[in-house]
Amino acid sequence: MSTSLPAPPKHKPIQCGGECYCAICGVPFGGYIYQNNNQVRGRQPCPTLKGAKIGYNPRNLGGWDKTAWVRGIYFVGYLPDEDETIMSGKARLVAEGVIELYPDDKRNETIPSEYDYECYRLSEDKITVHPFHWPCLEILARILNPKAVDPVLHIDASELDSSFSSLSNSYTGLELLTGANKRHGKP
Ligand SMILES: [Zn+2]
Repeated sequence: MSTSLPAPPKHKPIQCGGECYCAICGVPFGGYIYQNNNQVRGRQPCPTLKGAKIGYNPRNLGGWDKTAWVRGIYFVGYLPDEDETIMSGKARLVAEGVIELYPDDKRNETIPSEYDYECYRLSEDKITVHPFHWPCLEILARILNPKAVDPVLHIDASELDSSFSSLSNSYTGLELLTGANKRHGKP
């Protein structure tokens, strides 16, 4: 009797922080933003933050189909050795800190598998990538190019990645300086 081992994943997983946020809208990719079926039905407690229940009931937002886009992750990054900007196809968070590219999405074939990838954090040995939701990119593109037929085609991926990189070096999202720390919570 022969046993066959499962085929190795086509792409290496991409590392990210315990919480990882869209570089454009700032919403986290993790499923905990929504209650699961057991939590909706009261069979399982919802997670809490500082004592308050967190997680939206997906039924209140139109159901799982209408909220699926929040879990679809795409990313841009720059390969210094090849002086090339990459833009991925669809990916998803499969475990805390682990994003997997969909093997069936042909756009992911342009992502070289010889490198290790990590969201947001700058490092010597990994390629830094910036994750986002595709609808967020479409909205950004529409604002920048309101009259274009397909505004996303007018987005320069290299410039976009460069803008993200200039604000990047935390492990979970962009570092936007709002002055909030200096104000210590005062208006
Ligand atoms: Zn987003």
